[in-house]
Amino acid sequence: MRPINLYNTLTRTIESLDPMDGECLRFYCCGPTVYGRAHVGNFRTFVMQDVFRRVVEAAGMKTQHVRNVTNVDDKTIRGSMEAGQSLEEFTEYWTRLLHADCESLAILPPHQEPSAIAHVPEQIELIGQLMEKGLAYQSENGSIYYRISAFEEYGKLCHLNKDDVRHNADRRLNTSDEYDKENASDFALWKIWREEDGDNAWDSPWGRGRPGWHIECSAMSMKYLGESFDMHSGGVDLIFPHHENEIAQSEGATGKTFARHWFHVAHLKVEGEKMSKSIGNLYTVDDVESWGFEPNDLRYALLAGHYRQPLNFTKDSLNACRSARRRLGQFAELLPVEVDSDSGFFLFEPVLDALLDDLNTPKALGLLHSITQEASSDLKTGKLSSEEMASLATGFHNVLKAFGLDLPQSEAESQEVPETIKALAEQRAAARVGKDWAEADRLRDELGQAGWEMRDQADGYELTKL
Ligand code: AMP
Ligand code: ZN
Repeated sequence: MRPINLYNTLTRTIESLDPMDGECLRFYCCGPTVYGRAHVGNFRTFVMQDVFRRVVEAAGMKTQHVRNVTNVDDKTIRGSMEAGQSLEEFTEYWTRLLHADCESLAILPPHQEPSAIAHVPEQIELIGQLMEKGLAYQSENGSIYYRISAFEEYGKLCHLNKDDVRHNADRRLNTSDEYDKENASDFALWKIWREEDGDNAWDSPWGRGRPGWHIECSAMSMKYLGESFDMHSGGVDLIFPHHENEIAQSEGATGKTFARHWFHVAHLKVEGEKMSKSIGNLYTVDDVESWGFEPNDLRYALLAGHYRQPLNFTKDSLNACRSARRRLGQFAELLPVEVDSDSGFFLFEPVLDALLDDLNTPKALGLLHSITQEASSDLKTGKLSSEEMASLATGFHNVLKAFGLDLPQSEAESQEVPETIKALAEQRAAARVGKDWAEADRLRDELGQAGWEMRDQADGYELTKL
C-alpha cells in the first residue's frame, strides 16, 4: 500500500493521506442537486473524485466512497411543483440521467448513494443534538438556526475570521424569511413550512418543515462513514459556506474531528467564461456527443489540467484529446490482446507516481504518451521479448484503468487512410528526402487541412486523423 499526497484545503499544504483505520480509505463527495441535467463543470469535479478513488485503489488501498443526492432544496421543490410531480418522482428522473452520464464517462458508482429525502430522521436527530448543546436556536418564525458565535473554530476551513464571515453574510442577507436570525451569518438547519413548499414537509419537534441543505451532508456522511473519516470533497464553490457549515454542525455535535482531509476541485470555465444559463454555455454530455465526440474524449479533456487550477473547456481541447486517445488506440494495436494479470504498472510506474503526487493528471498524461511513444518504436522494430510485451500490455491496461480512460470505439475504421492522403504523404516524404523543405511544409499544411497529421519518425512517418 502506498499513500497518496494530496493538497488539504484545511491546512493549505500537501499531505500524505492513508486510511485512518489502516485498511479502508473512507470518503464523502457532495453530490449533485438533481433538478436538471448535470453540466460539464459538475463532471470535472466528479471525474477528479473518481480518479482520486481509482488511484488510491491502484496504490493498494481499499475505499468506501459515499456520494449523496441532494433532493430536498428550493430548486428541487420548485422544479417538482412546476412539473406537477412528487419530489421523489421528479428527482428520481434526474438521478437516472445522472447515472447514465456517469456511466458513459466511466465514473464508478459510489459504494453508497444516500438521498436527503430518505434521511430526514437522521437530520432531525442531529439538529436535536445541536439544540441541546446550545449551538442552535429557534427563531420567532419557527425555523431553527445554527448559532455560529457559539462554535469557536468557525471559519477554519475557508480561513476567514468571524468578522469577515459576518461581513459576507450581511451583504448576502436578502431573503425575507431570514430576518429574525440572531446574527446575519447564522444558517438554517430546519426551515419552517411555507406555502411555496406545498406537500414537501416533515414533522419535527420544532414544527412541520424541512431540513436545510447543509445538515443533510453532515447527517449522511456520519451515518455511513462514522463521526470521523478520511476525506471530504467537492468543487471550490462548496468550501464556503457549505463545508464550513458541515464542520460546525458535525464537530459541534460530536466534539471530534469530522473529515481529516478536504479535497476541492477548481472550476471548469467554458471558452474562458464562467458557465451560466444566461450566457447559454451550460453544456451537457449529450451536447458533447452531438458535436461528434465520445464521452471519453470529454473525460480526457477534464483530466488535461491540474485540479487545483481552473480549466478552460473548448472544442479545440476536445479535438486534441480525441487525437491523443487515437494515438493510445494505435499503441494498443501493437500489443498482445491478452492481459495476464491485474497488478503492476511495469514501464508505466512513473505515471502512477505522478498521479500519487497530488493527482498531477497533466504530468501523468504527458508521461503516458512519452512512454507509449518510446515503447512503440521498440515494438515496431521487434526488440521486445514476449514477456516484455506481456508486461507492457498489463501495465498499459492498468494505467488506463487508473485514469478511467478507454480507447476510441472504432479505431481501425477511423484510422483507415484514404488513397489521396496516402499519395500526399508519399509526396511529402519524397520532398523531405530531396530536402525541399518549403514543399514539405506546404504538403504538411495540405494534409492538416484535410484532417490528417503527419508525424515524422526515424524510420518513416505516421498518419493520425485530427
Ligand atoms: P451542484 O449540483 O451544483 O450541487 O454541484 C455538484 C458538484 O459540482 C459540486 O461539487 C460543485 O462544487 C461542482 N461544480 C459546480 N460547478 C462547477 C464547475 N463549473 N466546475 C467544477 N465543479 C463544479
Ligand atoms: Zn454536501
